Amino acid sequence: MSRPVQARRLEGIDKNIWVEFVKLAATYSTVNLGQGFPDFPPPDFLKEAFSRAVSGEKHTLHQYTRAFGHPPLVKILAQLFGKLLGRELDPMTNVMVTVGAYQALFCCFQAFIEEGDEVIIIEPFFDCYEPMVKMAGGTPVYIPLRPKAPKEGKLMSSADWQLDPAELASKFSEQTKAIVLNSPNNPLGKVFSRGELELIADLCVKHDALCISDEVYEWLVYDGKEHIRIASLPGMWDRTVIVGSAGKTFSITGWKVGWTVGPNRLLQHLRTVHQNSVYHCATAAQDAVAQGFQRELERYGKPDSYFVQLPRELQQKRDQLIQSLVAVGMKPIIPEGTYFLVADISEFKSEVPDVPDSDEPYDSRFAKWMVKNKVNLPEDATLKAADDILQRWKLEKAAP
Ligand code: PMP
Repeated sequence: MSRPVQARRLEGIDKNIWVEFVKLAATYSTVNLGQGFPDFPPPDFLKEAFSRAVSGEKHTLHQYTRAFGHPPLVKILAQLFGKLLGRELDPMTNVMVTVGAYQALFCCFQAFIEEGDEVIIIEPFFDCYEPMVKMAGGTPVYIPLRPKAPKEGKLMSSADWQLDPAELASKFSEQTKAIVLNSPNNPLGKVFSRGELELIADLCVKHDALCISDEVYEWLVYDGKEHIRIASLPGMWDRTVIVGSAGKTFSITGWKVGWTVGPNRLLQHLRTVHQNSVYHCATAAQDAVAQGFQRELERYGKPDSYFVQLPRELQQKRDQLIQSLVAVGMKPIIPEGTYFLVADISEFKSEVPDVPDSDEPYDSRFAKWMVKNKVNLPEDATLKAADDILQRWKLEKAAP
């Protein structure tokens, strides 16, 4: 029994931060502040659409549908993204539905990356890009967003984190097959500006590289900022796959409906991966999401659109959380989008028991310590709970 059972491609990618933190949160019966999901219900129109799909007359909605996407969903996605990108899209060849954005990403890396290929990843990044590139045989090449000091007395914003153009250019080479762009970015909440996207686009065109554009937080943008789609920039449509998620769009992360939008020359290869792995996604959930998009398309840009209301609500929660974090001595980086918030915790160094001989980074130890010692509330509260926890903590700290 000396032969390894696992394939070599699994080496070094067995650990997963979410698996670790979900377990920690469950063990200590606490709020899960790690994974990004809403602590509020999805909109009624979507829940009703799902109920209609499963309890209505159309029994076919309980059966397999088209492998690359339920026709009503790919049609409405083609219509919406056609409008957003200013080009005619074919629902059958320019759109593919996936099991969440996660599977869309997996299809991209499996379809495009092979041994020897390099993939540029902008730091800090959503953790799965790295193992997915490695599993496909590629090599991740990292480029950091570097912080600029904020103005005197001001909190830092995610916009203060920027790419150094020369450093970015130096990462592109003959081996570069693709760059992963995630705007709005998890975890900083950075919304890339047009200038930053043009910089990336020019390098992609120059080096004939692809762009895997993870835009799952496209509707969660605050302070009147605009989400710009890199695929709309000159020379980019042909080399970009847009990755999206109904989970983030309609606050239904558990439904796991995602999609890719792009040119057929790229999507045809995603279809090959998809038909040889997942093949087909849950029909009723796709049907309900299609109805949700139909509603949104009719209300596009209007005050009663969910895409207008959701960011407004989340922006208020963001501001509340920022206040709480500041009140306890953390220095939050104000996110321009997403439901993530990164904070400078260096003030707390003395509070976390030191772990001798540990090479685990301080921020990781701090987060675990906080889950074990400070975050002790019922399961389903998140932002509200975080606020309460921090207020309590502040009182504790102030107590003699
Ligand atoms: N990309 C990013 C940047 C994410 O944050 C997430 C979920 N946290 C995903 C992709 C995966 O989305 P889904 O739940 O639709 O698979």
